[in-house]
Amino acid sequence: MSSLRGYYDVIVVGGGAVGVFATLDLALRGVSVLLLERRSICSGTSGRSHGMLHSGARYATTDPQAARECISENMILSEMAPHCIRDVGGFFVSVKPEEEEYHSELTSACERAGIPVRDCDVQLFRQLEPKVSEKVRSAVFVPDKVVYAKDLAVSAILLAVARGASVLEGAEASGLKVEDGGVVGVWGSCGGDVFNFECRGVINAAGPWCGEVAAKAGIHVEVIPAAGVMGVTCVNLTRHILNRMRPPSDGDIIVPYTSGATISGTTAMLVEDPDNIQIREEDANVLLQECGEVVPALRRVGFSRLYASVRPLISPSEEQMSLREITRSFEVLDHSEQGVRGFITALGGKLTTSRLIAETAVEKICQQIGAPRGSYTDKIRLDMPSEEDLRELRERLKAGELSGELASTLKAVQDAIDAERYVGLILPLLLASRKGGQS
Ligand SMILES: Cc1cc2nc3c(=O)[nH]c(=O)nc-3n(C[C@H](O)[C@H](O)[C@H](O)COP(=O)(O)OP(=O)(O)OC[C@H]3O[C@@H](n4cnc5c(N)ncnc54)[C@H](O)[C@@H]3O)c2cc1C
Repeated sequence: MSSLRGYYDVIVVGGGAVGVFATLDLALRGVSVLLLERRSICSGTSGRSHGMLHSGARYATTDPQAARECISENMILSEMAPHCIRDVGGFFVSVKPEEEEYHSELTSACERAGIPVRDCDVQLFRQLEPKVSEKVRSAVFVPDKVVYAKDLAVSAILLAVARGASVLEGAEASGLKVEDGGVVGVWGSCGGDVFNFECRGVINAAGPWCGEVAAKAGIHVEVIPAAGVMGVTCVNLTRHILNRMRPPSDGDIIVPYTSGATISGTTAMLVEDPDNIQIREEDANVLLQECGEVVPALRRVGFSRLYASVRPLISPSEEQMSLREITRSFEVLDHSEQGVRGFITALGGKLTTSRLIAETAVEKICQQIGAPRGSYTDKIRLDMPSEEDLRELRERLKAGELSGELASTLKAVQDAIDAERYVGLILPLLLASRKGGQS
């Protein structure tokens, strides 16, 4: 067993979308950063979402702040990573009289949140979506899109590595070292080795596990772990993302994720342990019942598999709030208020808003450690790495500085580029490396 040591300005714990964007943001500012991920990049909630780049329409009536964040980040990520996003568009569809009543509430709330919506003639909608129910009464177009989270995270982390970031996959943070009221290091294990890294700041981006990570520094963070189940149907059922025209509830979204894979979701239930989610038969039944109201063929075909993940929700502001009512916006907690300087937790939000959450967390840590202020992550392109970035990646791969799945992905990308001398190949390769059913 060997002991890994080193010094970094900032250590990010958790390699989901938030941790990856935080690492990229820090690297672009020239801050030395290490990302620790206990499994592989995007193996947590981010890699097991519904695969939707939200327009924000789903939250417009009940959670306007989350809605505004979603539409703004939807536009930023579409520019930043067009190779990870499919602009299929979405519709809100009413199949019951009470859903039709929600129509004007929805469209006015979307307008207030800056989400462009358009009523669609029902006959035209049926031509666009021939498998929808006879019961469809109205349809409203919204700019929902499909997002491939793993491609997005891998593209972002490769650029971060090219700009000097270090990444350790399979590295579990077991403890945080706090001295004189400030965090000064992280220790844990990586494969058969132990690590003991020093730092000036830590960003806790451990998603539904961030309460556990905060506890390692003696800090209490209240996380509401709300699991959601999704069902995969191995046929194309729709061309667009279809949402039930009603406030957020179970089984109200159908996503045409890839050719031959439609994902219906989701549910919401409290779990004790995010590593142990039980999928029940009734979850599948709810999805088939509710999503099947819009596309009846779904009930005939059924699901070929079910999967689940856990939302890291913020503790509700009012005691009586249901899981559906808790905000999908985010919080970035500065633990110096609880006596630990240089320690920030990012909590809540969506995959869609992960870049913004990371930017907010990085601004806070940079302010504390005196690092450069101002993020660039809303101005970069991830689909066009420069020759210089690729050269740097190649050098770091050769030097054995990368490990785990990330090294294999990068090796495949590099081999193709070396063979073809064509940078554009990075895109199809990343797409080809996508794993079935994981976003
Ligand atoms: C059912 C469901 C469907 C969803 N669908 C969508 C959707 O369609 N669109 C959307 O925008 N949002 C969606 N979301 C929300 C979104 O997926 C999450 O908000 C987002 O992915 C959270 O990202 P994260 O980086 O905070 O957490 P995660 O992706 O969970 O990342 C946290 C990481 O921390 C690592 N970790 C934990 N502990 C340690 C430790 N001690 N040491 C090192 N690493 C550690 C974990 O392995 C994990 O990889 C969905 C959520 C759920 C539950």
